[in-house]
Amino acid sequence: MNCMQTRELIGPQLDGELDLMASLELKRHVECCLACAQVQERLQAVRSAVTASAPYYQAPEQFGDQIRAALRREIPHAPAPRRPWRTFLRPLAVAAAVLLVAGLALDMALHSYRSSSHTLAREVVAAHVRSLMADHLLDVRSSNQHTVKPWFNGKIDFAPEVRDLADAGFPLEGGRLDYLDGHAVAALVYRHNLHVINCFVWPARDAEPAVASGAQGYTLVRFTDRGLTWCIISDAAPATLEEFTRALHANAATTVPAKTPN
Ligand SMILES: [Zn+2]
Repeated sequence: MNCMQTRELIGPQLDGELDLMASLELKRHVECCLACAQVQERLQAVRSAVTASAPYYQAPEQFGDQIRAALRREIPHAPAPRRPWRTFLRPLAVAAAVLLVAGLALDMALHSYRSSSHTLAREVVAAHVRSLMADHLLDVRSSNQHTVKPWFNGKIDFAPEVRDLADAGFPLEGGRLDYLDGHAVAALVYRHNLHVINCFVWPARDAEPAVASGAQGYTLVRFTDRGLTWCIISDAAPATLEEFTRALHANAATTVPAKTPN
């Protein structure tokens, strides 16, 4: 089950509408997908807040009869309405239609956001797999950041920061050019034990919140930093990628940018 399918099932799950198999699948996904777990938590919180604090009023049983009687007094010559419920339901129907339209608009906005971010996630997974399969992991093979960084000069119009993170357990292997979301991107390659970590870097369009998610057995971490979007993918455990991201940030923050020979 992928993130999009999961998100669609979180609401029904909270309303107790899922069958056992679907709930189990959803549970399995949420356990290893931080992003979906957060969505589930937020919905659960909203649901609890509404249940706990929204006022409920029970109409007395004879309330309907009283209103019908009052209406007959108001319009004595009108024939008794054959379907009195229509009168009561019309304002409700209008309200429901308004809610439906608002809901659809929100849903469409969320959907287009989700599908664009899912398309990107799919592309990132494909690029990662391609790099491992086609013997095209590295265009420049070096653990020296002063070799890898200048290699990108003239090939892309931005300069990704390159750091060897061997001290933190993530030696730099090199880099290559790749293609994502319609433009050339820098791919920095690190290794952690047997796991390859691909870092795709490209100029950010907008500042994006950091997200971690799972897709097809891979963990993805995405964030923007000083105008560049970083998308990190590996089949290493989510905790390992978190550690890697921390090492990346720690090095970027404390190291003075190295002068590279041009
Ligand atoms: Zn997910």
